[in-house]
Parts: sequence; C-alpha cells; structure tokens
Amino acid sequence: MRGVVFDGTRTEVVDDLEIRDPGPGEVLVAVTAAGLCHSDLSVIDGTIPFPAPVVLGHEGAGVVEAVGPGVGHVGPGDHVALSTLANCGACAQCDRGRPTMCRKAIGRPGRPFSRGGKPLFQFASNSAFAERTVVRAVQAVKIPDDLPLTSAALIGCGVLTGVGAVLNRAKVGLGDTVVVIGTGGIGLNVLQGARLAGALTVVAVDSNPAKEAVARQFGATHFLTSADGVRDILPDGADHAFECVGRTELIRQAIDLLDRHGQAVLLGVPAVSAEASFLVSSMYLDKSILGCRYGSSRPQRDIARYADLYREGRLLLDELVTETYPVEDFAKAADDAHHGRVARGVLVF
Ligand SMILES: [Zn+2]
Ligand SMILES: [Zn+2]
Repeated sequence: MRGVVFDGTRTEVVDDLEIRDPGPGEVLVAVTAAGLCHSDLSVIDGTIPFPAPVVLGHEGAGVVEAVGPGVGHVGPGDHVALSTLANCGACAQCDRGRPTMCRKAIGRPGRPFSRGGKPLFQFASNSAFAERTVVRAVQAVKIPDDLPLTSAALIGCGVLTGVGAVLNRAKVGLGDTVVVIGTGGIGLNVLQGARLAGALTVVAVDSNPAKEAVARQFGATHFLTSADGVRDILPDGADHAFECVGRTELIRQAIDLLDRHGQAVLLGVPAVSAEASFLVSSMYLDKSILGCRYGSSRPQRDIARYADLYREGRLLLDELVTETYPVEDFAKAADDAHHGRVARGVLVF
C-alpha cells in the first residue's frame, strides 16, 4: 500500500508499505483523507525529533476495516476521525478526564508498519499518510456518515488543538477579549473557538495581510498585521492571548498584551531548546502563562461534539481545506504548506 515515509534524511511516497493486523483493543482504518500539518514538516526539518524511518501524518479520517478483540464502540464500515492520543484509559490521569496527560500516551512510538521486512515507526500514534493504519480504540472516534471525510480529517489535530485550547484550557467566557497571534491552521481554529465561546472582541494578528478575510470568516472582529495596534483596540489588554506561531518574541508579545488576570496560552512550537523571557513584575496582577497539549482534549467527547457543531453550521471545516492532493503529490503539498499558500492541504487516497 501507499504511504509517505521519512527515512531520517529524505521523504518519499512509497507503494510497498505493509501494516500488521489489529491486535486486542486496536482498530484497522482505511484512511480516506489526511491533513498536512506543520508538525509533519517539523519532523522532516528536525524541529520535532522523531525516530526514523517513520510513516508521517497525524490527522486523518477514514473507514474502519477491522477491529481487534475487545473493541465494541466501532465496527467495520463505520466512519471515524482519528486522534493522536493513544492514552491507556485506565491510569489516574485518564480516570480524571485528562487523557492528554496520560504518561502511557507519550514517547512510546510503536512500529505497526513494515517495508521489505523492516519495521517503520508510527508518527504520533497515528501515521495518517498511509492507506491503512492501526490505532488504539480510544483514537477512533465515530462520526456521522454524511460528514465529508476530507473535512473530518482536520478535526484530529488543528480543530482539537485550536478549539480545545479555547474551550478546555483557557475556558474563554462569554464577553471575554481575545488576541490570537498567527492565523495558520491552529490560529484559525482558535478564532472559531473564541467565537463559539462567545468572546466579544477577537483580535487576529498576522504579518500576512492576505489572511484578513479568512481570519474574519473564522471569528476575528479585528485584524492587524502587527501586535503594535492591539492596545488601540484593547487599551487594558486582553483576557486571553494565544501564541500560535512558535516564536519567542511573539510569546513575549502575548504576555505583554495581557489585561489584569489575563492568561497567555502557548500553542506554537519553537525549537525544543528555545528559551523565552518576560518581566516578572508584569505577572503580579494574577496573570498566567499556560502550556497546552493537544487542546487539553478528550477526543471521544470533543470530536463528536465538533462533528455536531459542524452539522449545525457553527463550526467551519470545509473552509479550512484550501486544496486537496493525491498522496503522490506530497512534495507539492508540503511546499504549499511551507510557504503558507494554503490554510490546510489535505492528502487523499
Ligand atoms: Zn498537527
Ligand atoms: Zn492513561
């Protein structure tokens, strides 16, 4: 079968991948569509260290082909969106509703794929850039059959991370003020999360003026090409400032833009060794800096909820998909994503 493989140096689309059968508690999914997220490119350029060879991709949707023993919540033929969270479901963190904090979900990549008899790693417990993948049962979330799979493919990373950061981590409230720095795949979802939460003023900041229309479509009430103008709109600062780019100077800007009791939420991913600084005295008035893993999501609950919101027309998914590519055109899709020519490119099988 076909798939996108990074061997540690170069990336290629291969057609001789194999996948093992699903074991107990696992689901075999025929992937129909998979979003190309910057984290995939970050593996290729080394920003996210990951063992190789690896099958890339970490947000996808498809159709269940088979389930292993003990799986009852989905069966062959069901449409599913995939999360990247292979949490165990049984530890104290899982039990308290914090699957993103499950220690068994992090840092233990499996190797369900093989090629010429040699095993390949699975990226983010997911590897959606393959015609078929095997995931843990908790990662396969049933979605309605009428949801386009090219749109559903985007829920598993960008939507869970961006909307989840707003609803689950920051807990933005009705009438709050929000600043969103960066309007890529994550930033746009933060914007629509803020709209869903009922934020009153939502300022999008992106150095690319061409992003204004799409930022407003997703929920921005104001658009600026530099954070310098934010105080003209919000003289006291913002209740919530989301950094969605991953640059330390922008993290500093987010903190400096906070109102009293405000919180900066860090969603961008700078290099692992990057350090940022802030004025300690600027934090005295009950301000906070929040990390956020994967939108602090609970995928079985959240993905189903986002699917319902989409069907009600309250959550935008189709508008995130700027371009679809056959998987063979991965290089073009990666180049378009790298140069910011697409909100989200989607690979289809
Ligand atoms: Zn991603
Ligand atoms: Zn757990």
